[in-house]
Amino acid sequence: MSPTSTGRLDFQGYTPGTIGRITEAHAVYYHEHWGFDASFESQVALELSDFMSEFQVDRDGLWVADSDGRFAGSIAIDAKLSDTEGARLRWFIVVPARQGSGIGRALIQEAVAFCRRKGYRSIFLWTFEGLTHARRLYEEIGFRLVQEHAVRQWGQPITEQKFVLNLQNRGDIMEFKAQKKETVVLNPAKEMARRSIPSEIREDPLTGRTARICHFMKLQWEKPDFEKIVAGTEKTCPFCAERVMQVTPCFPPEIIAEGRMTAEDMVLFPNIAPYDSLGAVATMGSRHYFPMTEIEPQRITKAFQLAMAFFRRIEALGHPESVYHLINWNYMPPSGSSLIHAHLQVFTTSSAPNLMREELTAAKTYLERNQSNYWDDLVAREREAGERYLGRIGRTDWLLSYAPLGVAGDVLAVVDGVNGTLGLSDQDLADIAVGLCRLMEAYDKMGIFSFNMNFFTGRMSDSFSRFHLLFSPRTFFNQSLGTPDIGALRNLFNETLCMAFPEDITRMLKPGFE
Ligand SMILES: [Zn+2]
Repeated sequence: MSPTSTGRLDFQGYTPGTIGRITEAHAVYYHEHWGFDASFESQVALELSDFMSEFQVDRDGLWVADSDGRFAGSIAIDAKLSDTEGARLRWFIVVPARQGSGIGRALIQEAVAFCRRKGYRSIFLWTFEGLTHARRLYEEIGFRLVQEHAVRQWGQPITEQKFVLNLQNRGDIMEFKAQKKETVVLNPAKEMARRSIPSEIREDPLTGRTARICHFMKLQWEKPDFEKIVAGTEKTCPFCAERVMQVTPCFPPEIIAEGRMTAEDMVLFPNIAPYDSLGAVATMGSRHYFPMTEIEPQRITKAFQLAMAFFRRIEALGHPESVYHLINWNYMPPSGSSLIHAHLQVFTTSSAPNLMREELTAAKTYLERNQSNYWDDLVAREREAGERYLGRIGRTDWLLSYAPLGVAGDVLAVVDGVNGTLGLSDQDLADIAVGLCRLMEAYDKMGIFSFNMNFFTGRMSDSFSRFHLLFSPRTFFNQSLGTPDIGALRNLFNETLCMAFPEDITRMLKPGFE
């Protein structure tokens, strides 16, 4: 174990006094916060002493974080039973004065990376209920609760919990390819001095689709005068409360007996400009205009639930088009929406759209080749690497696309263990809505006021698929001329352009997820 330095934080292995310092940190913290008695300190001291006396440097790991020369935290990997039970993560602690500084995350990442290098198949740890911050960190890294039971121990009643991190995903075989390019120009502002401008061509690790990243401008746009855009549009809006029940069409009784479906002030009816046989539009309420930051998660959840109710009705009919259940959301005109009034496009189809079909085909090949699910591997890999990972809400992981379609990056939300849309629970819909609102708030700060959001789904039986959605902000390159953010490159070459590195966009969005 060579010491690694993270700023003023040093990681090292054993030094004289380590057993005492780790034991003391545990004894003091758990006595003050949880009332544990001397039996706890004795057990820590005893087991830690045993661990150190049996320590094998090519098998086990111990990391001590020193901050400015003082003990700040520790973590250990006891891999005696790695072949059977897995490697055991132990003695993970950060002293109260340094909690919240990122030391805990750094320690656990170090320990997990060590286990991966050693090829251990899994890591497990025992903890107890109530250590909220630690649990959140375990889950962010990918640990899952597998067992819990109530015991009386160390003088207190506690619920012991076992968490496991499966390391058998194949994230390491995923390739994140990029060609770095350089353009040299003579800069007239600096007496024609040579200036080098970098750009990058990235390949999507699943499909090989290429995307260009240029570091062209700051992600900051002027917001338009919304009053001017919105003014007068409600007078003829077909989705406003006074008109929606008069002007929108109805489904025939063999599809939806009551013609339209409703949920409070939301209405779902057939799309009058259908692009498939079972397409619907769902209004997101009677209010004509919602600024992006005023759409509450509850409203999005309810609209998703209305769409899901439609999907289930079609499914119950045994309809041949009940295969892929999709929601598209074009919000505000730059996204392609012809109306101000917020609404979802809801359709169920046997014909997978282009990119979704390509992804499904590639994910199937990936599973056959690697015996693992691409999306599970992607999430595990990105969660550990961290540079494009935002966070987890419920069982949904949020991350930036490596090769985005949109000019301001794309955000992916992947729902753990769900193959198709119909597998989403109400809780999943609510969790997704919370994440979408966090994105809207963050992008609003960049002056973005429009986006596309699409569901990507497999059949319920497609084990190579994971339900995910893409959120892609949209903008005008020139507001006053109405210049859209899609030009010849994207429209005719189907080559995308992103105006910033997704890793930089991650840093802009991340605070909303912490
Ligand atoms: Zn309206």
